[in-house]
Amino acid sequence: MEPTTLVVNCGSSSLKLALFDRKDQKLATVLVERLNTPHAVARIQGLETQITIPAEGGYEAALQAVLAALKEEGLMTSDPTAVGHRVVHGGETFREAVLVDDDVLESIQACSGLAPLHNPVNLAGIEAMRKLYPTVPQIAVFDTAFHQTLPPRAYRYALPDHYYRQWAVRRYGFHGTSHYYMTREAARRLDRTPATTSLISAHLGNGCSITAIRDGNSVDTSMGLTPLEGLVMGTRSGDVDPGLFDYLSTKGITANQLSKVLNQESGLLGLSGQTNDMRTLCDLADHGHEPSRLAVDVFCFRLAKYIGAMMASLSQLDALVFTGGIGENSSRIRQQTCSHLGLLGFDLDAELNHAHGGFSDGIISNPDSRFPVIVIPTNEELVIANEATRLAGSPMARDGAQ
Ligand code: AMP
Repeated sequence: MEPTTLVVNCGSSSLKLALFDRKDQKLATVLVERLNTPHAVARIQGLETQITIPAEGGYEAALQAVLAALKEEGLMTSDPTAVGHRVVHGGETFREAVLVDDDVLESIQACSGLAPLHNPVNLAGIEAMRKLYPTVPQIAVFDTAFHQTLPPRAYRYALPDHYYRQWAVRRYGFHGTSHYYMTREAARRLDRTPATTSLISAHLGNGCSITAIRDGNSVDTSMGLTPLEGLVMGTRSGDVDPGLFDYLSTKGITANQLSKVLNQESGLLGLSGQTNDMRTLCDLADHGHEPSRLAVDVFCFRLAKYIGAMMASLSQLDALVFTGGIGENSSRIRQQTCSHLGLLGFDLDAELNHAHGGFSDGIISNPDSRFPVIVIPTNEELVIANEATRLAGSPMARDGAQ
């Protein structure tokens, strides 16, 4: 039986699974939405599938139902040989992926205060899979790990020192798995090694972040203590003046209300008053809807400013790379962003940019552009699968399995 690696991504209301073989081929995908409600829906290989997902019984029952369906459909013919889990926050404890044991679970739990909406559900997924497959190595891969190479000048806030020492208030950065994949892929395409590749990597999806990568290491990034800081996102504001808190409190807005507004009602949705979906926004803007045009303008301008800011961390730049649903698919957003950056030397080729407006990838800059600009589709699941396979083959995993 060919060894396989299962990738598990547990969210608060969704569950995503992907099964890979050892040649990096994806054998199966599952997406369950509206989890933990009586209306859970499952898609296997992108097609809606009748699976009864128990509303009670948590992640273990849901995973059990989904895995049984995968076996029934003939997509999973044997137990996986490794399981990789996406974990959002690894604090300062985890600089890389780890094989899960009881101590690791405790440390992930200890980071939960920094990601209360994510880490507890990520943990629930790991615990459920450990019960279902007690002899199979489980590996945790952290969104924050790639950014643990940030220097203090990039990760410290200008706040009283004890905020950091006592309460771990610092910038952590997120989307690390995607930015790492960009480094690996861009290096391959530029015929370099990751360790000699320097990039600005823009991950633009519903969540957006940008990272400066110097010689393969993350040295600055736009997200901070939480994934709220930085760029304009689908429903998140990104950077605002911290003085906003005080001012809005005089208007009767509480900290809880403001947190909800900044996370769920701002960004593209807040500015346009219509949608957080960039494709729809661009259509609306084309039909003369001014607030949507403004939302697109603010999005691109903030991104361009951040691209400029990331240059402060680099002494060489091999490419600017775009990824994520918007970065991969929207030639318009890439064009509008780079139009602010002529002075810095990012010059797109209109035809190449359009040609790579769909699912194809490649260089989109003019040959005379000072810096190449590349579109690369991200693949976080593959990184998690690769890390899980690697660690499952380590001596520690083999000892654990004996
Ligand atoms: P993600 O979170 O990576 O799945 O990205 C979701 C975002 O990508 C949404 O805002 C989509 O509207 C956006 N997106 C996907 N395709 C396109 C497209 N062709 N043009 C503009 N935005 C797109």
